[in-house]
Amino acid sequence: MSDAFDYDLVIIGAGVGGHGAALHAVKSGLKTAIVEADVMGGTCVNRGCIPSKALLAASGRVRELRDDHHLKSLGIQVGQVGYDRSAIADHAKNLVSKIQGDLTNSLTRLNVDILKGWGRVVGEQKVAIDTAEGEKIVTAKDIILAPGSVPFVPPGITTDGKTVFTSDEALKLDWLPDWIAIIGSGYIGLEFSDIYTALGCEVTIIEALDQLMPTFDPDIAKVAQRVLIAPRDIDTRAGLIAKTITPGNPVVIELADRETKEVVEVLEVDACLVATGRIPAAKNMGLERVGVELDRRGFIPVNDRLQVTRNGEPVPHLWAIGDATGKMMLAHAASAQGVITVENICGQDHTVNYMSIPAAAFTHPEVSFVGLTEPAAKEKAAAEGFAIDTVRSYFKGNSKALAEGETEGLAKVIYRKDTGEILGAHIIGLHAADLIQEAANAIHQGQTVTDLSFCVHTHPTLSEVMDEAFKRAVVVPV
Ligand code: FAD
Repeated sequence: MSDAFDYDLVIIGAGVGGHGAALHAVKSGLKTAIVEADVMGGTCVNRGCIPSKALLAASGRVRELRDDHHLKSLGIQVGQVGYDRSAIADHAKNLVSKIQGDLTNSLTRLNVDILKGWGRVVGEQKVAIDTAEGEKIVTAKDIILAPGSVPFVPPGITTDGKTVFTSDEALKLDWLPDWIAIIGSGYIGLEFSDIYTALGCEVTIIEALDQLMPTFDPDIAKVAQRVLIAPRDIDTRAGLIAKTITPGNPVVIELADRETKEVVEVLEVDACLVATGRIPAAKNMGLERVGVELDRRGFIPVNDRLQVTRNGEPVPHLWAIGDATGKMMLAHAASAQGVITVENICGQDHTVNYMSIPAAAFTHPEVSFVGLTEPAAKEKAAAEGFAIDTVRSYFKGNSKALAEGETEGLAKVIYRKDTGEILGAHIIGLHAADLIQEAANAIHQGQTVTDLSFCVHTHPTLSEVMDEAFKRAVVVPV
């Protein structure tokens, strides 16, 4: 370490991005400090992945145990199935505190200094921290900004945290409304509709775009509509925006036509979850002190190496990762960016291959994908002058899925017809979130559908759904 600085690396934000960067920095021999203004672990641990998966696990069991038809087909009978809302909420709360503790210990064990307080850049290679004891200045050879994101609440919507709320409050599961409107059909809205319907609530999903689940591949969205929406107590409105939402009892929602903005319907519901995306939390970090302007949407501008840019040029020794960069707002993407950034700080020249980063919605069944959707792949193919092909395989033909009595779903692989390069993979079905990893690794390693078709998959496992798809692919070299 250079004696000229207090640290080799100071990271602002101890979410999963900052945490991943800190662990890799220690491994790379850097003296590291991490600055955190709130609770350790950021969104993922406290208000995101972890509590939502705990609620999904518990509510998913309730759904399964109440599915007489399914249980009967396996020869099982159960009596009345009940649940305790506050005990489910405690399961999520306890898991959060366990993982928060583990994450903190993993840093202290490696001698990463945890500096509590609001961090700001106050000059090149200089950070000020507003601690409980007053301002503390530290110098660092390199600085990584990892401030994350917060829920976006569109104009016209008032939240009170009780009847109208975002995922931050919903995860506490303080109460269960009879009827809840969910604004947004992205993965957060879908996961909550899974939780609420499993626990007996009626849900209305409101989506501004013309189709529900707009980020999914169209084939997957079609199956998701049939499996995750249609058979459940879910009512949907697409192409409408929530123009105003007023908290209270009832919550009043004015739905307007997306184009004309004219109110076309008024809903009166018990509660409303606003799941309309997230915005970066990059304000008040002193970026103006080093001449950096946030982009139009408030993200920190970075280049492919994750260096913060000023008028398009990298600012020396200043880096940014995670949700605040707006590249891919996922926990594992943030931490991958952290690792790559540390590599670059140490003199390497790496970039993140976002095409190989998978994403999942942990609904029952799960939905997952990596790479491009079919329409996006077609666009790329047209622009670059090659042909694509797609293959599908179905859970209903898989022995393990049949044994589980869970045969809904399909896997779809999109590939270059001439080379077999995988452009995208999409799965809906049992354990889809685990199954996607094979395609993600293949994209990362540049393996083709042909390469994968020769890989041996354990029988009988769900991985054979992917095996089947790879084997069905036909590559025609030109
Ligand atoms: P964050 O986790 O937001 O952490 C940023 C940290 O920086 C915070 O602790 C904040 O307090 C701190 N901070 C900010 N500014 C300062 C400052 N100036 N000084 C000091 N500290 C500061 N992703 C998945 O991959 N899988 C999932 O299943 C999943 N589920 C989700 C479910 C929900 C309901 C939500 C909301 C999100 C979910 N996500 C999921 C997304 C995931 O949580 C985020 O992508 C991830 O947390 C981003 O990590 P980050 O490190 O960029 O930021």
